[in-house]
Amino acid sequence: MDYDIIVIGGGHAGCEAALAAARLGSKTLLLAISLDSIAMMPCNPSIGGTSKGHLVREIDALGGEMGRNIDKTYIQSKMLNTAKGPAVYSLRAQADKARYSREMKRILENTDNLHIRQAEVTDLTVTGGAVTAVVTDMGIQYQAGAVIICTGTYLNARCLTGERITLTGPNGMKRSEALSDALGRLGIKLLRFKTGTPARIDRRSINFEGLDIQEGDAEPTPFSFSNSAEDIGRQQIPCHITYTSSGTHGIIKENLHRSPMYSGAIKGAPTRYCPSIEDKVERFADKERHQVFIEPEGEDTNEMYIQGMSSSLPADVQLRVYRSIKGLENCHITRDAYAIEYDCIDAAFLKLSLEHKDIKGLFFAGQINGSSGYEEAAAQGLIAGINAVNMLRGKEPLIIRRDEGYIGVLIDDLVTKGTKEPYRMMTSRAEYRLLLRQDNADLRLREKGYQAGIVPHGTYMETEKKRKDIADEITRAAGVTVPPTEKANAFLAARNSTPISTGIKLTELIKRPELNYTDLKELDGGRPALPKAVIEQVNIQLKYEGYIQRQMKQAEQFAKMESLRLPEDLDYNIEGLRLEARQKLNDARPGSLGAASRITGVSPADISVLMIYLERRRRAKDGE
Ligand SMILES: Cc1cc2nc3c(=O)[nH]c(=O)nc-3n(C[C@H](O)[C@H](O)[C@H](O)COP(=O)(O)OP(=O)(O)OC[C@H]3O[C@@H](n4cnc5c(N)ncnc54)[C@H](O)[C@@H]3O)c2cc1C
Repeated sequence: MDYDIIVIGGGHAGCEAALAAARLGSKTLLLAISLDSIAMMPCNPSIGGTSKGHLVREIDALGGEMGRNIDKTYIQSKMLNTAKGPAVYSLRAQADKARYSREMKRILENTDNLHIRQAEVTDLTVTGGAVTAVVTDMGIQYQAGAVIICTGTYLNARCLTGERITLTGPNGMKRSEALSDALGRLGIKLLRFKTGTPARIDRRSINFEGLDIQEGDAEPTPFSFSNSAEDIGRQQIPCHITYTSSGTHGIIKENLHRSPMYSGAIKGAPTRYCPSIEDKVERFADKERHQVFIEPEGEDTNEMYIQGMSSSLPADVQLRVYRSIKGLENCHITRDAYAIEYDCIDAAFLKLSLEHKDIKGLFFAGQINGSSGYEEAAAQGLIAGINAVNMLRGKEPLIIRRDEGYIGVLIDDLVTKGTKEPYRMMTSRAEYRLLLRQDNADLRLREKGYQAGIVPHGTYMETEKKRKDIADEITRAAGVTVPPTEKANAFLAARNSTPISTGIKLTELIKRPELNYTDLKELDGGRPALPKAVIEQVNIQLKYEGYIQRQMKQAEQFAKMESLRLPEDLDYNIEGLRLEARQKLNDARPGSLGAASRITGVSPADISVLMIYLERRRRAKDGE
């Protein structure tokens, strides 16, 4: 066997998969059509944002690389949604794209057990229901015990700008042609999806006069739990905000027939939550203007990314559209906007480990699974990498449940429900989002990363110490009573908080909306000096105690249903189950009762029938 694991693709999924496998000691080969596509960001120059920031933090907690890489290469960092509750606080960092890719390539090139090679995989060898090798366009065959496909937006890709269609991958890179056919020959169902990107504009041709400026946070928050604000402090580059105008909308409406999305040239399912500007003008016709962010692509480039203006209109129309926007009146376009259509698989044929249900050792991760976004791809890559190693070593796969992480929500949604359009993570998808905050990803997942063998012992112990410090401080604070002194009431009055006439628990005061644990230091003489991260946790856990406990109860119920495993070979032609449920369950073969309950077309009544049937089966087996 040439390698233990072969990863096809050097995108955000491929990088995490290859690093995880190699760091767990497996001899790993990463193959990519172009090594210049390693961790390439073909679209927005940012990592994180609402719910995507949660994914990056979870990747870091589990021992992945994305968080550390963006901390080294960001040019602006901002915590979003701070006016709302901590469940939706989300970190977002503008990346220096070129540096991000270069740094990730450097990490790959210097990782033990890992080889990278430029080659296009054109075929897979499957013997006896298991994948055993890949074949490249050079006709070279590489043997392996497991293969992880992370081919992103390249499979049979075609790029569309008005009437101009090119058979290439992103940024004019060579597309992947033969592999789709190879997957088809293995009976793997392919879907056709579409996404798009805006034009890039030369910074020198933009008039920033009068545009709103968006600065980064004075004290940046690191994505990686291994970094402190001091570790990552640097000069930041601002973004700017402008808006489309009725003139913009008019030009677009006039030329809608020349947009492949509206001329019918594009067949792929579009991204509902990253709509093109054509879609926005059509779908939200009542809106007078749409917000546009002007984002730097890096420190050493004049190329600016025009967020919110993704399009596939013809180049001549694009220029008129962009020049109708305030600040861009004399803009010079360096790269036209375009749409890309590509093949991906129906992830409903995968297990929660991301291994294919019918082909042993064949894993899929990233955009190929129907997701959209660097963060979603990286999360899947990490899990697939760890699980390919576990599969080879006969170990149980690492499964993150929906109540444990956004990674669990992402993979469970893709695998249990499948998707008919590019799937983008959102906080609204996570039913336990108050528990799955970006600030506690390490407390939730570090232990799983350690047990998987990818998080070093020292890092794990640091988190356990943090956990203990938090618990100790919460216990201490719970024992503190604030007496109704003049000082206390002066403090409260200064914060428009109701005065006290009797002693009150410190933890009660913390729950008042106008107060928090940090402020109350003044009335809490015995407070020990604590690290910032511990203080943050103590404040959130005490302030939202009631909500958190309620959600923990719900999550316990959920975990119970998830723990009821369903045999992989169960025949669901069970009396009492409705026909639709029988068909759906036999197709999906869910891993747990919980997963069964999330399949569209399986009703709560069907789940009760199934529970009774399973209980009878268990009793019969136990001879009861
Ligand atoms: C034009 C465009 C617009 C986008 N817009 C958005 C957006 O608005 N919002 C959003 O969230 N995401 C967007 N994305 C998606 C985002 O780029 C992807 O989600 C992310 O890059 C997916 O990562 P990945 O690792 O799955 O694949 P990719 O980053 O696409 O990497 C795939 C890798 O596989 C390699 N490869 C492919 N086929 C083969 C083969 N046969 N043999 C060897 N190597 C192969 C390629 O060389 C590459 O290294 C956009 C992408 C593009 C191209």
